[in-house]
Formats: sequence, C-alpha cells, structure tokens
Amino acid sequence: MPPATTRFAPSPTGLLHLGHAHAAIFAQRAGGRLLLRLEDIDRSRCRPDYAAAALQDLAWLGLSWEQPVRVQSAHFSEYAAVLAGLQARGLLYPCFCTRAEIAASAGAPHQLPLGPDGALYPGTCRALTPAQRAERQAAGLPYALRLDMAAALRVVPQPLYFDEVGEGLLRCDPAGFGDVVLARKDTPASYHLCVCHDDALQGVTLVTRGVDLKPATHLHRLLQALCGWPAPRYRHHGLLLGPDGRRLAKRDHAPTLRALRDAGRTPAEVRALAGFPDPGD
Ligand code: GLU
Repeated sequence: MPPATTRFAPSPTGLLHLGHAHAAIFAQRAGGRLLLRLEDIDRSRCRPDYAAAALQDLAWLGLSWEQPVRVQSAHFSEYAAVLAGLQARGLLYPCFCTRAEIAASAGAPHQLPLGPDGALYPGTCRALTPAQRAERQAAGLPYALRLDMAAALRVVPQPLYFDEVGEGLLRCDPAGFGDVVLARKDTPASYHLCVCHDDALQGVTLVTRGVDLKPATHLHRLLQALCGWPAPRYRHHGLLLGPDGRRLAKRDHAPTLRALRDAGRTPAEVRALAGFPDPGD
C-alpha cells in the first residue's frame, strides 16, 4: 500500500499550543505525505497573524509539509457550488430560526434532544412552503442552510461505515445530527462541509484528528456519500491532557509553542512535551 496522505488542519483562532503540536506530529508520523490546511472560514474568530504564526511554529518544531497550504477562506465559491448542488437535489432548506426561536419551539431548552453538535433542530423551517421561503428571503431575513437528514438518508444506501485504523469498519449513525447546518447565517459554509470537500480535493487518504471529532465522522461519511467523494480512512488520537487531567485548550491558557520557545525550550523538548520524546524519522 502506498504511504498515506495525511493533513494537519488547525483553525487560526489563537497561537498553537501543545495539543496542536501533538496532532501535527501525529499526522506526520501516520503518513508519508503531510498536507496543511488552515480552517479559517469563521472570519470573526480567525486572524491572519495567527495563521502566519502557526506556519512559523510548525516549521520551528521541525515539521515540513507539501505546498500549497490550503486556506479555506480563499475557496468560499467552491463550497457554495457544492451547496448549490445539494440544494438543487432538494437536500437542503433555508432556516430562518434564531437560537431563541429554536429553544422556544421545543418548549424549553432542556427539552431539546441533544446531538453531537448540540441541541437537535426541531425542523420548523423544513415545513415552510416555497412561497413562505421566497417571502422571507425577499425580506432580507438571514438564513442558514440545513441538511434535510431524512431526505439525505433516503438517497444514500444504508448502512454506511467508516474505517477506523485499529477498529475496522464502524457503522455510521448520522441521523443523530438531525437537520445539521451546512452553511451558517454568518459564514457561507460549515466545518462539516468544508472538511469533507477539502479532504477529497486534497487527496487525503488518512484523516488523523482528536478523538473529540470522532462523532463528527458519522456525518462526514454521509456527506462524502452524498457528494460522491472518496472515503478516507480515519485514525482518531487521544487528546493531550494538562496537569489537571483536563484536555489542553486555548481558553484554559495551555502553554503556546511560542511561549515555550521564548522560555528557551528546544524543538526536541517541545516535541517530547507534546508526547513524542523519540526523534522520529
Ligand atoms: N480545524 C479543526 C480543529 O482545529 C480540525 C478539523 C479536522 O481535523 O477535521 O479542531
């Protein structure tokens, strides 16, 4: 089998920390070709200086990757084309609901069933007539695009499986996501759509990422089947934990690679802190 093509796909919403270093080195060691992708579709949270810093920090750590780096925000028209195709097949519908309306439509927030992405959407806007949709769009109301999950499950032969290294074929349960958002009101695409599109486009054959994203793979496999994209293999890794036993996260001020470097740590020491004490390849 040829060596796998893997990718590291950070969102530049802050400086990279040890958890990112773990994910990046894991991706490099799991495959033969490493690609890099900046998942910066959320324009309110991502910053170009964080993107530049990420590339510098990864190079300092000793990683190298193939060019070009894919920058998602430069490709909104490609995601729009995929969405238009799904919409033409009757698999998407516009949703005008606000968060408050979604909570209220189920009586109380705690009564909404929970999916992997949070509260499940009760389907209010699925029932709108074409005239009602046109009227709201003409009035300039902002809307998200949601996948009609029941319709999607009807067009894709069930069951679907994803191939997890070390576990084999795992049966997918995408229905648990409900009518998931594929284009947000404030961002003309969603993480789920862009990640599947780009993994296919970039020829990624092995997706490595944290186990926190394993539930999303159930939905990703459905999107791949709907769009005719190949299914990569998956290898979800454990998350690096801080001294308190909790997962490292930006919001908890996990040590950034930059701070460690400024404190005099060498790349080898930082790789060891990130869980890779051996020199590797
Ligand atoms: N951009 C995501 C993150 O930073 C990773 C997405 C993925 O690997 O599928 O958590």
